[in-house]
Amino acid sequence: MKLLSVSLVVGALFLTSCGQSSTEPGASASADQTKRYKWRMVTTWPKNFPGMGMAPEKIAERVRIMSNGRLDITVYGAGEVVPALETFEAVSQGTVQMGHGASYYWRGSVPAAQFFTAVPFGLSAQEMNGWLLHGGGMALWEELYARFNLVPISGGNTGTQMAGWFNKEINSLSDLQGVKMRIPGLGGEVFEAAGGTAVNIPGGEIFTSLQTGVIDAAEWVGPFNDLVLGFHQVAKYYYYPGWQEPGPNLELIINQDAFNELPKDLQAMLRNASLAVNNDVLSEYTARNNQALKELVEVHKVQVRRLPDDVLAALKVISDEKVRALVGEDPLNRRIFESYEAYRRSVMDYNELSERAFHNARAKLEGYEP
Ligand code: CA
Repeated sequence: MKLLSVSLVVGALFLTSCGQSSTEPGASASADQTKRYKWRMVTTWPKNFPGMGMAPEKIAERVRIMSNGRLDITVYGAGEVVPALETFEAVSQGTVQMGHGASYYWRGSVPAAQFFTAVPFGLSAQEMNGWLLHGGGMALWEELYARFNLVPISGGNTGTQMAGWFNKEINSLSDLQGVKMRIPGLGGEVFEAAGGTAVNIPGGEIFTSLQTGVIDAAEWVGPFNDLVLGFHQVAKYYYYPGWQEPGPNLELIINQDAFNELPKDLQAMLRNASLAVNNDVLSEYTARNNQALKELVEVHKVQVRRLPDDVLAALKVISDEKVRALVGEDPLNRRIFESYEAYRRSVMDYNELSERAFHNARAKLEGYEP
C-alpha cells in the first residue's frame, strides 16, 4: 500500500502541474472544480479477482486519490449489477458509466473488437501496447467504439497465456475431436473448426463446469490466475503455448456522454490511471506466473505439455482464415486488419534481431531445451 501511495502522489503531482500550466484550447477554465461525480463501473470479472479483476479496483482507487474524491467510482463484480457478458451493452446504453473487461467478448456484435484483445498468433503484450499507443491502433479502436457511444482505454494485459487444461493428452489433431472446451473469442472459432466445441463462460463458472463434466477442457489465463481457480483439482494436463491469446489487452470502457460531462482534468486522470494500471497488471502477471507454475508442478503435480507442432500448424492455418473472415465487408474492419497486420509483420521482423534473438541466445547459454 505504501508503494502504491508514493506512485499515486507522483502521478497526482504530475497531473496537478499539467493542470496549472494548461492553456490547451477547449480546457475550460470555468469547468466546475468542486462538482463531485459518483460513478458505477461494472466488470466481467469475479469481484476482487487477483490480477485482472483488481485492475478496475486499482483504476478507481487511483482516480479517487488523484481527484481528491471528485470522481468516486464504485466497482461491481460480474453479476452484481449486470451479468459479466452484458457489460458492453450496459455501458453503451448508459445504465452505468464505466465497464472493465475484454473486447473479444463482444465479437458477436462487434467482430473487429477482437483485434483489440487478441487474435490467435497475433501480438504479444509488449507488441500490442506498441500498436495501440504508437502504431495507430488506438485511433482505430476509438473509431470503432464511437459507433457504440463508448470511449475505450487499455486497462490491463495478462501477457502470453497458456493453451489450457485438458484431461487427456493431445498428441494429434484427432485428439481435439469432440472436446468441449471453454475458449472464448476467435480462438474458440478456430478450435471449433479444428473439430472441437467451443463455449464461452465467465471465469467464475469454469471450475464447476469442468468438475461436473459440462466441459472437458478450459483455457482461462495462466498459472497465476488458474491456480487461484483451482483447475489443477479437476484437470490433469496443462498445455502451452497460448496460441489463442498471445498478449490480450483488457479494456476500460466509458460511456461517451458521461465522459463528455467530465472536466478535462478528470478525463485526463481516468486515462492516466487506466494506462498506469495497464502496465501494473502486466508487471504483476510477469512476476507471479513463475511462482504459480512452480507450485502447480511441484506441489500439485500438474503435467505440463507442449502442443505438438503439427497441431499448432493446423490451428495457424485455420486462424489465418478466421481472421480474414471476421474482417468482412466493413471498410473500418478492413482498415483495422490492415493496420494490425502491417504492424505485426514489421514488429516480427525486428523481433527476430531483438527479443527472440536475445531469448534464444540466453536460453541456449543457460541450458534450456530448444
Ligand atoms: Ca484466455
